[in-house]
Amino acid sequence: MTDPLPLGSTIGILGGGQLGRMLSVAAARLGLKTHIFEPGANPPAADVAHAVTTASYDDHAALKTFAASCDVVTFEFENVPTDALDVIEALVPIRPGREALRISQDRLTEKAFLQGLGLNVAPFADITDAASLDAAIADIGTPSILKTRRFGYDGKGQARLRGPDDAASALADMNGAPSVLEGFINFNHEVSVIAARSIKGDVACFDPGENVHRNGILHTTTIPARLSSAQRTDAVLMAAKILNALDYVGVLGVELFVTPKGLIVNEIAPRVHNSGHWTQNGCMVDQFEQHIRAVSGWPLGDGSRYADVVMENLIGNDMDRVSALAVEKDTALHLYGKAEIKPGRKMGHVNRITR
Ligand code: AMP
Repeated sequence: MTDPLPLGSTIGILGGGQLGRMLSVAAARLGLKTHIFEPGANPPAADVAHAVTTASYDDHAALKTFAASCDVVTFEFENVPTDALDVIEALVPIRPGREALRISQDRLTEKAFLQGLGLNVAPFADITDAASLDAAIADIGTPSILKTRRFGYDGKGQARLRGPDDAASALADMNGAPSVLEGFINFNHEVSVIAARSIKGDVACFDPGENVHRNGILHTTTIPARLSSAQRTDAVLMAAKILNALDYVGVLGVELFVTPKGLIVNEIAPRVHNSGHWTQNGCMVDQFEQHIRAVSGWPLGDGSRYADVVMENLIGNDMDRVSALAVEKDTALHLYGKAEIKPGRKMGHVNRITR
């Protein structure tokens, strides 16, 4: 089915966090409804969605009822259990498709996929035990980073190796989980491309943003990123190559390291991305609307940038600054409605127009 979804159609979203919330707002602006599927109580997306199902991903009856109420299903996180996807896909299309999820759920598969496309990635090796780690260190060297293949996010599930002596403790940090060793990239800075592809195969990329992390969590995204025009073209072409190879429908985030030798892909996220939040105040059509348009079979909108923006995440106690931020000039406040403030928890963000 490639006909555009008619007004009033329902988009199912797996996951009810802030991304599901902002996707729901974008859908509502286009006259579409969202139905959130989320195991946790009172998810941020529930405040703004048409319907919410509170059930676990192994509740097949709930998944079937949910899927039957939707015209298409998308997701706001990549670790959706495979069984749940099977149940849903028997009833309704899932966009983006399963291949993008399969690849991005596993760092080893993802690295091999990117390398197969001819894109540069950090040197990497599959680690299953102490012997394979020793062999990989001999090959890749140190400094390097050991990462779990699955379920890593915001720098979690990672251990740095300064030298071969760190091997045993890094392996212990993985708690027996299959992992990959990655050579450490001496990058100048990190950028990301938020790219969209429509059902017809049209591709539109937002201007690349420059990302700064603090304690493994995204702190700011600054637009425009420091990139030469050749690098900017490269970044966009790399993202388009990934989208086409996956026959992707929707928005995808591509994180890149900028090095003197060129751009190196760190990872991809098959969803709207924190480093794309600036688009809400820097573009006519933001990443959330672009994703809703794509998965609904609509044409992509105009995502060109009309302002320079700095996005800053509000994490944990940054919420103490909200009353001051609320009166700051050229600043748009986006809060996620989360009841409880916890250290390291993303509570909201601000977009500051800088030019
Ligand atoms: P990741 O979870 O893979 O996105 O890693 C989180 C952060 O760790 C990245 O944004 C980088 O700042 C850093 N990092 C990850 N992999 C590497 C690498 N191979 N070399 C240098 N820094 C890295």
